[in-house]
Amino acid sequence: MSSEPRVAVVGGGIAGLVAAHTLVQAGARVTLVEADRRLGGKIRSERIATAVVDVGAEALLTRLPAAVELCRELGLGDDLVPPSQLTTSVWTRGRLREMPGNVLGGLPDGVAPLLRSGILSPLGIARASLDLALPARPLDADRAVGELIGRRLGRQVLDRLVDPLLGTIYGADCDELSVRATAPQLEALARDHRSLIRGLQAARPAAATGPLFLGLPGGLERIVARLCDRLQNAELRCGVAVTRLDRGRDGRYRLHGPGLEPLVADGVVIATPADQAGRILSAASPAAATLLRAIRYSSTVVVTLRYPAEALPQPLRGAGFLVPRSERRLLGACTWLSAKWPHLAASGETWLRCSIGRGNAIRALSLDNATLVRELSAELREAMGLRGEPAGAQVTRWEHALPHYEPGHIDRVDRIEDELSHLPGVALAGAAYRGIGVPQCIAQGRAAAEQTLADLETDVSRGAE
Ligand SMILES: Cc1cc2nc3c(=O)[nH]c(=O)nc-3n(C[C@H](O)[C@H](O)[C@H](O)COP(=O)(O)OP(=O)(O)OC[C@H]3O[C@@H](n4cnc5c(N)ncnc54)[C@H](O)[C@@H]3O)c2cc1C
Repeated sequence: MSSEPRVAVVGGGIAGLVAAHTLVQAGARVTLVEADRRLGGKIRSERIATAVVDVGAEALLTRLPAAVELCRELGLGDDLVPPSQLTTSVWTRGRLREMPGNVLGGLPDGVAPLLRSGILSPLGIARASLDLALPARPLDADRAVGELIGRRLGRQVLDRLVDPLLGTIYGADCDELSVRATAPQLEALARDHRSLIRGLQAARPAAATGPLFLGLPGGLERIVARLCDRLQNAELRCGVAVTRLDRGRDGRYRLHGPGLEPLVADGVVIATPADQAGRILSAASPAAATLLRAIRYSSTVVVTLRYPAEALPQPLRGAGFLVPRSERRLLGACTWLSAKWPHLAASGETWLRCSIGRGNAIRALSLDNATLVRELSAELREAMGLRGEPAGAQVTRWEHALPHYEPGHIDRVDRIEDELSHLPGVALAGAAYRGIGVPQCIAQGRAAAEQTLADLETDVSRGAE
C-alpha cells in the first residue's frame, strides 16, 4: 500500500460527504461515488418563488453537537438561527390544541398540563394517571415504544402525543419502533423509575440551555456546498452507482458498477441506504448483506405551500401541528415555516410545509400534484381556518427514504458491524444505523472515516512487522 491510502466513499449524502472530508483532512486520496447527479441526498434546498426552502431535512437538533460543530468548521456557525417559535399543537378532538410544555418525545411531565391542553379525554387522563400507581415492570429487552407507552400511560397518550411526533420523524408507527434506538431516554426512565410521569418530572432540565433546534437561512444545502468546496483534492463521481464490492488477493477492494473501471481502493466507506449497502456487500459479506436488507424503509411526501398573508385568519402561534393517525387525515404534520423561521417570515407570505407519512405516503405517492394540493388545502382550511387557495405549491416525493428502527435494531447493527470486521478498512455510515437525524449522520460519517483509517494503519503496521 502507498503511504497515502486510497479510500472510496460510496454515497454523497451528508454521511458520505463528511466521511470524505474527514479522510481528505487525514491525507487520504479519496474518490466519492454518488449514484445521483446531485450531492446531498436527503438534504435538499430549493428556490421556490421568493425564498429558498428546505424540502428534505430542515432543522438541526443541537443536543448532539456534531452538526453545529461542522457548521462552525465550515464558516456557517454564525448563520445558524434558532426558531422564533417552538410550540407544537395537535389536531384532535375537533381543533388545534397546544401540546403541554416539557415534553420528551411527546410526553407531558405531569397530569395538570395534560388536563389544560384538552388533547386527552377525561378517560384518557384517568388512564394516564394510573402510571403513578401501577407496579413497576422493568424492561427485560428492547421493546416497541407503543408497548411501553401504552402499558404505562394508555393508548390515548400514545395515539395523540407520542405517535404523531415519533411516527413523523421515523415514518413508522410506534408499535414498530424500538425504544432503545428511537427513545433511549424513555428506556432509561422506564428502567430507573417506577412511574414514567415521576421519571419525567425528575428528568426535567433545570434551566433552558439554548435552542433545541437551529435552521440555516438559504437552506441546509449550503452545508453540502461548503463540504464540496473542501473536497477539491478528492475525485467526485456523480451519476455512477456502485453495485458490488469484492476483495482481491492483494487485499485491496474493487468497486464495480456501470461506468466504473473497477475502482480499486485500500478502504471503503459505504454511506448509502441499507438496501443498497446490502446489494454492494452481497458477494464480500453475504451475512452482513442479509442483515442490511432486512432494514425496512418507508416513504414520505413533503408539500411546501405558499399562501398570501391575508389567507390567515389570525397570526400563527407556534411552529406547527401534528395529526394523530386516528383522525384519519391525509396530513401527518404541518410546519408553519414562516412562523418558525425568521428568514422565511421576511417574505411577508405564509409558508407551510405539509408532511405525509406512513400508510398515507403510499396513497400520496400515487396522487397527481393537483389532487394532492387540493386535498391538503381542504384539510388546512378545516384545521387552521385558512382562506382561499395556495398561491404556489411544490411537491417533493421521498420514496423509501426513512429507515425503520424496529425493536432489536441496535443488536442488528452490532451484528452487521461484527460481520464487517472480516473486511478491514470497510465501514458503514448513515441514517440506517445509529441515528436518523443529520447530526447523527455527520457523527457516523466521521466515525466511519476514522474506523477505516485506523484499520488501514493497523494493516500497515502489520505489514511492517
Ligand atoms: C423529508 C425528510 C425530512 C427530514 N427532516 C430532517 C430534519 O429536519 N432534521 C434532521 O436532522 N433530519 C431530517 N431528516 C433525516 C435526514 O435528512 C437523513 O436521515 C440524512 O440526511 C441521511 O443522510 P445519509 O447521508 O445517511 O443518507 P442519504 O441522504 O440518503 O444519502 C445517501 C446517498 O447515497 C446515494 N446512493 C444510493 N445508492 C448508491 C449506490 N449504489 N452507489 C452510489 N451512491 C448511492 C444516494 O443517491 C444518496 O445521495 C429528514 C429526512 C427526510 C426524508
